Amino acid sequence: MPTYTYTCRDCGSFDLMRTISGRAEPAHCPACDRESMRVISTPHLSRLDPSLDRAVTGAGLSSESPGVTRHIPSAARNTPPPARRPGHPSLPRP
Ligand SMILES: [Zn+2]
Repeated sequence: MPTYTYTCRDCGSFDLMRTISGRAEPAHCPACDRESMRVISTPHLSRLDPSLDRAVTGAGLSSESPGVTRHIPSAARNTPPPARRPGHPSLPRP
């Protein structure tokens, strides 16, 4: 059974396990018994697989504060220039 979040005007939000068909009906606050309406909340991402959670968190951090490269990586520095096409020197010049 899914968990839905409701908010009471006086006490704040609380979670209730309800059937899907009953999710839109007002719920009674467990503290003051006032009728409370459902609120749409974010999904519980902490329940994700830990490796997927790390990937999502890493992607967010990378987009907000990407790493800075201060020098050319050694593998890229030793790359030979692209090969010239053998037919290009024989093309007519303007
Ligand atoms: Zn309340």
